[in-house]
Amino acid sequence: MNYGDIPMRRPLVMGNWKLNGNKTMVAKLIKNLATGLNGVEGVDVAIAPPVMYLDLAEQLLGKAESKVTLGAQNVDIHLSGAFTGDISLEMLKDFGVTHIIIGHSERREYHKESDEFIAKKFILLKKNGLIPVLCIGESDAQNAANETLAVCARQLDAIINIQDVRVLHGAIIAYEPIWAIGTGKAATAKEAQRIHAAIRAYIAEKSEDVAQNVIIQYGGSVKLENAAAYFAQPDIDGALIGGAALNAESFVSIIKAAADTKNSY
Ligand code: PEP
Repeated sequence: MNYGDIPMRRPLVMGNWKLNGNKTMVAKLIKNLATGLNGVEGVDVAIAPPVMYLDLAEQLLGKAESKVTLGAQNVDIHLSGAFTGDISLEMLKDFGVTHIIIGHSERREYHKESDEFIAKKFILLKKNGLIPVLCIGESDAQNAANETLAVCARQLDAIINIQDVRVLHGAIIAYEPIWAIGTGKAATAKEAQRIHAAIRAYIAEKSEDVAQNVIIQYGGSVKLENAAAYFAQPDIDGALIGGAALNAESFVSIIKAAADTKNSY
């Protein structure tokens, strides 16, 4: 694989809409996002609507001349063929999708996706010029047993070991402690920073360059009230947001908090 130049680290706030929405909601949310984000600079923004609404989202973002990037919540490892119900990366590309969430804990848990299966998706996306947003993170029990770093390292190693650490160039890591997702029980900014720094240090053991430039987002019950504290941490490069991304006002406020905090360095 040609790993290319290492892109500079820029904050990214991404909304994961999960299994939510309808045509009316998509139209309203995108319209309000486009208006709310007018003039907001210094932070990249992506949304991952349900695959059903990518076509509509692409059209509406285009019409609004919005800089919001289109993402997807999942992808299959096959490009075409007899795989009922699956969606290929070529299909996602056809609708202007660039950022694809893989390894979300809900896919790991409800669809029994293994580290190895997720690694296949990661490599396939990279080979095809797409940006994997790789979710990693520990369960409540693993957290209590002090296994957070070991779990994150294992999830990263599944990818690094079949390729090279440079495969992380231009990819995005989302550290999402499972116990914080959709629970309202977010990690403290200080604790999240400690884990992010440790993940970066783990990658730095293999490549300092890759470690310094890879985007590591925090995810898990981020809302306006706690967002700025995360963005003020040196190793937290934005956020992956579920619930608070379904409301234009809260999502825009979080993005503005990222822009204000990161641009004030
Ligand atoms: C998520 O699903 O990735 C997520 C972080 O959800 P929430 O923000 O609702 O906790």
